[in-house]
Parts: sequence; structure tokens; C-alpha cells
Amino acid sequence: MASIYYTEVDLSPYEVPNEQSLCIYISGCQQICQNCHYPDLRKTNYGEPLIDFFEKLLELYFYQATCVCFLGEGENTLQSRRELTIFAKQASKMGKKVCLYSGRDVEPENWMNVFDYVKVGSYQQFLGSLDSSSTNQVFYRKKADGIYENITYTFWL
Ligand code: SF4
Repeated sequence: MASIYYTEVDLSPYEVPNEQSLCIYISGCQQICQNCHYPDLRKTNYGEPLIDFFEKLLELYFYQATCVCFLGEGENTLQSRRELTIFAKQASKMGKKVCLYSGRDVEPENWMNVFDYVKVGSYQQFLGSLDSSSTNQVFYRKKADGIYENITYTFWL
């Protein structure tokens, strides 16, 4: 049974620097951020199973998107990590960069290594999101040696 569900997609140049991203909004978020910007994403199994539509979405946005950005990581179970890993590898194989937005306050975890970009950190209204220089959130880019470097500052330029 699928564990990654999505509510909608859009194209955006803002989530990942220098990329035009196919953004996929994933439901099942386990965070409880005050003034959550998208409460529907906290519902479990809300929307459509991504596995049924992912290939179609990749085909549909193939010429417009240079990157696929997963906004959320679902319920963060082994199964949801497995599914996201498969999606990321599938998109990479088609020549797309891949990015994961996690709302958890963690360092990039081993299973996230398939992603070219990883954003971590909960939304703290008084600190602001990525575009605020006081933010607690961190945006990483994977270097050629596989190490993630913090490039959050690029959102403030
Ligand atoms: S991580 Fe995003 S979706 Fe989840 S509770 Fe926080 S603001 Fe809402």
C-alpha cells in the first residue's frame, strides 16, 4: 500500500536556487508548527497516492522542470522513505536534480543521500523561513564528494 500522498503540484523557481522545480506537496506531515502555512499537509493519506501519478508528472513537466522538489516527507516511516528514495532515483535517472524539504530539526540523514538538495528545520514564525537571515531552517547542497554544504545564505541575496 502506498504511503506517500500528494495534494498538488506546481512549477517554481523559488524552492531550489538556480532550478525550475516541479514542486510536489506531500501530506502526512508529523510536525506541529504554530501557524502552519498549509494545514491540509498534516492530514494522513490525504490527496492522491504519488506512486500512481509520478511517472505521468515527470513526463508532463519534463521540458519545464530541471528539478523535482518534494515538499514534505510524509509520515517519515521506513515505507515512506523507501518510496521517496525510489521517486528520487527515478527523477535523477531522467536527468533531473532532486530536492527534499523536511520539516524536522535534524541534520541530513543517511537515507537522504539520494537527494541533491535537502532542506531541514521546522517553521518557527519568530525566526522566519529560509528567506530570513534569522531562520533556524537550513538548506544544503550535495557536493561532488557527497558531503552536504550549507547554502542557506543564497536565499538572502
Ligand atoms: S512542516 Fe509545514 S506542513 Fe508541517 S506543520 Fe510545519 S508548516 Fe505545517
